[in-house]
Formats: sequence, C-alpha cells, structure tokens
Amino acid sequence: MSDRIADALDHRDVNRDLDVFATDPLAGSGLPLWLPAGAAIRDELQRLAKDIAHEDGCVDVYTPVLGKRALFERSGHWAKFSPDMFPPMRLGDDELVLRPANCPHHALVYSAAQHSYRELPIRLNELAPMFRAERSGVISGLQRVRQINLDDTHVFCRPDQIADEVARALRAALRAQRILGLPIDYVRLSLRDDSSSWLGSDEQWQASQQALRDAALGVLAVEEIPLVEALGEAAFYGPKLDLQVHGGRGHEETIATVQLDFNQPERFDLTFQAADGSSQRVVMIHRGTVGAMERVVASLLERYQGRLPLWLAPVQIAVLPVSEAHDVAARAAIDALRARRLRAELQLDGSLGARIRDARRQRASLIAVIGDREASAGLVQVTDGADRNRRTVPLAELVEKAAAAHRHREPVRW
Ligand SMILES: [Zn+2]
Repeated sequence: MSDRIADALDHRDVNRDLDVFATDPLAGSGLPLWLPAGAAIRDELQRLAKDIAHEDGCVDVYTPVLGKRALFERSGHWAKFSPDMFPPMRLGDDELVLRPANCPHHALVYSAAQHSYRELPIRLNELAPMFRAERSGVISGLQRVRQINLDDTHVFCRPDQIADEVARALRAALRAQRILGLPIDYVRLSLRDDSSSWLGSDEQWQASQQALRDAALGVLAVEEIPLVEALGEAAFYGPKLDLQVHGGRGHEETIATVQLDFNQPERFDLTFQAADGSSQRVVMIHRGTVGAMERVVASLLERYQGRLPLWLAPVQIAVLPVSEAHDVAARAAIDALRARRLRAELQLDGSLGARIRDARRQRASLIAVIGDREASAGLVQVTDGADRNRRTVPLAELVEKAAAAHRHREPVRW
C-alpha cells in the first residue's frame, strides 16, 4: 500500500501544501491553530462522529473543560496522571484543573438522575477537549498536542448488556474507520493475568473478559480482522479492545478503544434500580469511534498524502475560467456549487497552467475549467484527481454528482 512506503511524507510536510494548521510560539507549543482548510476537514469529521453516534443510539451532552481538583481526586486521575496535567488554578477556595479526560464529567451526568434497569443502556457522546501537559520536547505537529479534541462516548449498562454493547461499539468504530479509509490491521484484546493488582472480583473479570472475547470474535469474523489476545495488558479497572493500525511510516498506533470500567462506577457510586427494587452497580464502557481530531487528521494527511476523498477535501472543486471572458460563467458555477454546500474556490490569478498547478498542490478533488465552448453551452471541463480523467459535462451534472459524493462520503460516480 502506498501509505506504507518509507519515503511517504509526514503530515507536517503535507501541511505545507494544504495549510491545515499553524503553530505560533505566542500561542504556545502543542496548541495548534486550525486554519480554514483544517477547520473544513475537522467539521466533516465532527459531522461523521455525530452521525455515527446518533445512528448508534447515543445522546449528546456538553460538559466543562475545567473542573475542581476534587473531581479528579475522586475519579483517580489526580493520583495517577497529575504529572501529565496542567497545574491547578486557584480561585477563591477552589482549585480548578483542566481535565485530562471526559469520563468523570460523564459519570456526574449519569448520577444527575436516578436510573432503572429498564432505561439502560444509556450512551453519552461528546466531542470535547481534554488536556495533557506534554513537555515541549515531545510536541509534534498534530500528533502530540496539549489539547486533544476527542470523540468520546460513555455507555452505562447492566452487566448482562456488556457483550451487546461491546459488539455495538466495535462495529461503530470499524464503520468510522472504514468510511475514513483507515483500515484496521488487527484488534487487541487486553486481559488480566494472575497477579493480584486488579480491581473487581474474579467472577466479574472472567465473565466480562469472555463477553468481550465473544463479542469481538462475532464482529471480527464478519470483517475478517484478526483478534490478538494480550495477557496482563488490561487496565487495572477492566479489560479492553484496541483497534490497531500500522501507521504511515512504520509505527503502530491505537485508533480507537472499547474499555470496560469497574472503577469509575465504584468511585462515583453509580447505580441503577434492579427489577427487584435493589440498587445495583452499573457498568461503564469508554468507547471511541472517529478518535481524536488531531491524530485522525494527521493519519489522514499521511494516508492520502494530502489527496483526501472529496467529502473531506478542503477544496472540493477549483473553478478556473480560461480568461476574463469566462468569469461570469465561472462565478455562476461557484454559486451553484456553494448553494449545495460544496467547498468550491474560484482561481483567477496567473496563467491557466499555473492555476492548474496551484489547484493540484492544494489537492483539489475536482478541477473545473471553463473556456469558450463550455461557457456558451453551460458545460464544464472537469478533471477528477481520483482517476485523473478529463470529462466535459453539464454544470448541473457536476453539481449533482459532487453533492452526492459529498453526502454519501464516496468518490464521484461519473
Ligand atoms: Zn472515558
């Protein structure tokens, strides 16, 4: 695959042509600025994340990026991660910190109301920032940053719902990665070993590990993706599944995780009312689908070497009048494309050859040229970057086909 060749460009090199993000010492390292092209890509990813979450029965919540230090002491983050957290801010008698994870807030959303066994599962989705005090030495482009905007879902369910919820989460994550064109190489099932440092009972672990294994095998058999078991690699609070890919330049990374958690429900005393009226401990599942905006954009830029699929491309259609005589027709084309919410750009300056080179450098998905013949007949001459073929089609056809490709997140079907 082309994304695995050794001389593939780093996302920072691709960024030089596409202007996705910028950094400024005054803003601070690891705090990239998303430029218009980057915002266009990120908007599409956020829309995808939300579409998948909603199709999957998640509901949206919004929670603050700041919280009292006590909240993260309760969750256990403070004890474990405080060296990687920004130092607390003092405000009156409170100490506030930038959150290192969204989970504690979502636990509080769950506990804001009482829940019966009949209401479960409840799936809370939020695409929200969290913070890491990365040292300046390890900061790199979009790969290692200090603010991570994560597509994050927390499921609250009964123990008997674990297998279904895990299968659902895994299918959603695989669907997201398939749409993005970032194929998963394998899924890793992290289990506990026989040492004693695990939270929860043996029975709880055995049942949940088996539920994860069965759910994963069921989903992955259909997808023909291998499952690899890793003994002793579980978090102390529960087993998990990691979706693994081999990155553009040889390294391996985790794209999404489905993590069972027995710890947060204990720490926040999260319960549901069972059929017999008793109060039972709920199970929490952390799940990701699209992932962190920064990391997924870096992966996409490297995977496609900047030539993103049309639905993600910052410039979907570059419109080039051959000369000033064709400006009116070109503007009409821009208006028609933008009316369908396509990202179309009019390029006027310089020779036609220079403008074509410029549009290619920006990795425009489609380059539409309008000269005498086209202008007089309502046509455009289109070159599709995906197949490099040149076609002359009516403007209305270009608009319809590009809009359909955008809506369905597919290549243009000529
Ligand atoms: Zn979480």
